[in-house]
Amino acid sequence: MSVLTVQGYAAKGVGQPLEPFTYESPKLGEHDVRVSVTHCGLCYTDIHGINNYYGIVTYPFVPGHEIVGYISEVGKASSGLKEGNRVGIGWQGRSCTKCEWCKQGEEHLCQDIVESATWNPYGGFSSSVVVDSRFAYQLPDAMPSEVASVLMCAGIAVYYPLRSYYAENARKIAIVGIGGLGHLAIQFAHALGYEVTVISTSAQKKQEALAFGADRFIVSNDLATLRQLEFYFDLLLCTAHGDIHWEPLLEILKKRGKLVLIGFPNLVFNPTDLVAHELSIIGSLIGNRATMKDTLSFAQAHGIKPWIELMPMSKINEAIERVKQNKVRYRIVLVNDSLGTVG
Ligand SMILES: [Zn+2]
Ligand SMILES: [Zn+2]
Repeated sequence: MSVLTVQGYAAKGVGQPLEPFTYESPKLGEHDVRVSVTHCGLCYTDIHGINNYYGIVTYPFVPGHEIVGYISEVGKASSGLKEGNRVGIGWQGRSCTKCEWCKQGEEHLCQDIVESATWNPYGGFSSSVVVDSRFAYQLPDAMPSEVASVLMCAGIAVYYPLRSYYAENARKIAIVGIGGLGHLAIQFAHALGYEVTVISTSAQKKQEALAFGADRFIVSNDLATLRQLEFYFDLLLCTAHGDIHWEPLLEILKKRGKLVLIGFPNLVFNPTDLVAHELSIIGSLIGNRATMKDTLSFAQAHGIKPWIELMPMSKINEAIERVKQNKVRYRIVLVNDSLGTVG
């Protein structure tokens, strides 16, 4: 049998630019599908991966986990999917199926989560990927592929905590940061019925935030306005990365309010407010398979759409630079222009 080769873009070491990389396609397990990639969104997690921020990647490292493509081969025990189906794949491409979390249908908490990443062994900036068919999601016909790709990670990452922590008597939310995650969080939160306040370092994003559905916009260094909202919010959803001036943000949370992290900001603050007001800090990781299906149908029903810059996959390094320089409005999706469609 001939060996199927795959073309991709890989970092050969920590922090290295991506370069063309040819590798042998992973063997198709009986529950797996092989998917020819047409689109792949660029997520900040890919850049963290290239830099080995999480300490879980091996090199050569092919990032990419907001994938849309067409099934080119199905394993003999994969059910429900056929060759030619258009599917989306997010950060998780498989799970152990046996641990306590998988058994409860909370596969995103699988004990083998590192092994479960779609980019293990190689991710979506490539001509094809192999994943467990249970983690390849059929897409609504009317949903454009670039829209679907962004929902596969950024979409579910914001929808899951917004859905989980929504309560009729606790629907005042402050969303910190308006980038790839934040601009979607505003849309989902508004559609779910939250009263949405956006806190951003960039005053220029005000009109866009309001257009996405925000009820209020505050520039993060406007301490006078923040002070007026002391003990106001039930939830603070942080979508930002890097250094954040936390004290004024913790002060606007109600007693027993929740700070939910979906980005990876630096957490350095005086814990007085946390202790005195019984605040919680909660991490939130993507979501399970049921939530992924719900994300897609909710987005479709409510007309939620990421703002997207399309770029050819061959310009992957330029795309990474634009994300690092915070220039993207609001998500880049790379279109496979150079790697072929099969293998
Ligand atoms: Zn991601
Ligand atoms: Zn498991």
